Amino acid sequence: MITPAQIVKSALVGTLFAMAFGSMATAEDRFKDVEITPIKLSETTYMFVGSGGNIGVSAGEDGLLIIDDQFAPLANKISLALSQIQPGTPKFIINTHYHGDHTGANAHFGKMGTIMAHHNVLKRLASDNKTAPEALPVITYDQGITVHFNGDALKVRHMGPGHTDGDSVVFWSNEKIVHMGDLFFKDKFPYIDLKAGGSVEGYRNNVSAVLHELDEQAKVIPGHGALANKSDLTRFKHMLDASINWMKDQKQSGLSLAELKAAGMPEKWKAWSWQFISEEQWIETLYKGL
Ligand SMILES: [Zn+2]
Ligand SMILES: [Zn+2]
Repeated sequence: MITPAQIVKSALVGTLFAMAFGSMATAEDRFKDVEITPIKLSETTYMFVGSGGNIGVSAGEDGLLIIDDQFAPLANKISLALSQIQPGTPKFIINTHYHGDHTGANAHFGKMGTIMAHHNVLKRLASDNKTAPEALPVITYDQGITVHFNGDALKVRHMGPGHTDGDSVVFWSNEKIVHMGDLFFKDKFPYIDLKAGGSVEGYRNNVSAVLHELDEQAKVIPGHGALANKSDLTRFKHMLDASINWMKDQKQSGLSLAELKAAGMPEKWKAWSWQFISEEQWIETLYKGL
């Protein structure tokens, strides 16, 4: 006999199933047509563009290493793109930070390789009960770590609060290449995750610190956007400086957030607005973060 409680329970399960199934179907549709495009940066280095954060790849006699791994539904496509460079699976996976568009395929790659990240990446991924155990970083660090691989030394450095409280930037020692993670959105307003320990001024200072170390010929892998160079990063830094100075002035004048959003930023910066971080969202981040 079915009790009313069981009916309620089975209806609820049905609803949850439909919700889960529905969202799964949408996620698969969303990634169905995504292609992983490799861009060769040096004999042993590639940037993979797909959907989500750009992936850095080191490929050579020691094997494969990847920096970030986009979304879970793209794991097989990423593996396929890697296998077209050389056989094997990544020995090491570096996460530039914990966001799902950079760590989504961790559960896949964590089964075959070792994931490394800042302490706070582990803390944040582990605190989400949806994270599979194999998706968690195994080696974590505070200031940074150096990975000696494929004839190079990849210096993975944490630079303090910026995009989140666990960002890493990866510098190749023998090549003029850097992977910025989400400390760089090329020609776009950045997302700064204030709720995850990000900092507007820290973000700007970290960008500035990286710029000081870059050569004019440096190839700069942004978290989001096309392959960039030093002048692209300099332009980004100018936008950050101008935005911060603008907001500080506006706050002095005592305008409310709603008034600032209505008035908008100086014309010059409007083109940096995009679907994910609109001008209004950027104004809100500046307002709350300064
Ligand atoms: Zn991202
Ligand atoms: Zn991010």
